[in-house]
Amino acid sequence: MLSRKFKPWHIVPFSFRYARLRLTRRPVLVHFEVTMRCNAQCGFCDYWKTDASEKARELQSFADAARHFRPMMVTFTGGEPLLRRDLEDLVAEVDRAVPRTWLSLITHGGMLSIERAQSLWDAGLAQFCISLDYLDERHDAARRIPGLAGKILATVPQMVARGMTVRFNTVIKNDNLDDILPIIRYADAAGAGVNLSVYTDFKNGSTARSLGAAHLAQLDALVREILAFKRGRRGVVSNSDWYLQQIPRWVRGELNEPCRSGETTIHIDPVGKVRRCPDFPSDDHWSTYSGYQPINCDRCYYACRGEAQAPLTISRFQDLFGNR
Ligand code: SF4
Ligand code: SF4
Repeated sequence: MLSRKFKPWHIVPFSFRYARLRLTRRPVLVHFEVTMRCNAQCGFCDYWKTDASEKARELQSFADAARHFRPMMVTFTGGEPLLRRDLEDLVAEVDRAVPRTWLSLITHGGMLSIERAQSLWDAGLAQFCISLDYLDERHDAARRIPGLAGKILATVPQMVARGMTVRFNTVIKNDNLDDILPIIRYADAAGAGVNLSVYTDFKNGSTARSLGAAHLAQLDALVREILAFKRGRRGVVSNSDWYLQQIPRWVRGELNEPCRSGETTIHIDPVGKVRRCPDFPSDDHWSTYSGYQPINCDRCYYACRGEAQAPLTISRFQDLFGNR
């Protein structure tokens, strides 16, 4: 799934940049955590407990870090990035610092009006990633934002109609296994895409939504159905076939290779410190980054962990150039 800001021929300069980054062991994707504050109250994440006073410590620009790493992709994330009123400035500065870099935003969508979406798109975003784990009020309850799902489902078609690229970030949990295909079909009909990940309790220890032995048969069937959907319609689900096939293996505890987080993807926290993944503590300032070694950790199987190890197959190109 390409952003409407990038055309197929951009794959050539992107490929060169990817090769340079891999040869020099620099990250391909840099996440800028522009704030840890959040106005949702998810039961599986404690970021929303961040004290409001932290706002004063947040970096006023991520452009120097972007220039330093010159990655292929930058994601503005949090916390809830839309709490930053200067988010457009942050995006525009990074866009100027590293032109033709794929800039995306991860948001819960509760404050994403069509006007704000347009101003962020105009500032340089190439993609919006909106969290959506259910299509109904269960999503509102999970995030403790009344009317959230309805607002997202009303705003996304307007965004697509204006030519913006939208994906849903959907986390597979023990209570939404029946909702994943409907979300994928909804996204397909709405002109959006879906990026799947799998729940971990590592954020704050909440196991309420963890997948376990009792869910494996349904999870296996779901993965088969998603793969069948993908064979018929490439470009809607952005995950590689390989990653999807590993999810039940991770739940079964069959994955024992070290995690390579921090090699191709890094996170830079709101005060400029780097960390290997969103659930590990921050280390030193981003300028000291010299790579992370593989680590024996199996606490999550986020897409960013799994996809980094996915083999380069024809189906991945089909996903990229699919019609969504
Ligand atoms: S998961 Fe996202 S939306 Fe929920 S509290 Fe954490 S940062 Fe906020
Ligand atoms: S498995 Fe990797 S990405 Fe996941 S929590 Fe552990 S170190 Fe982080």
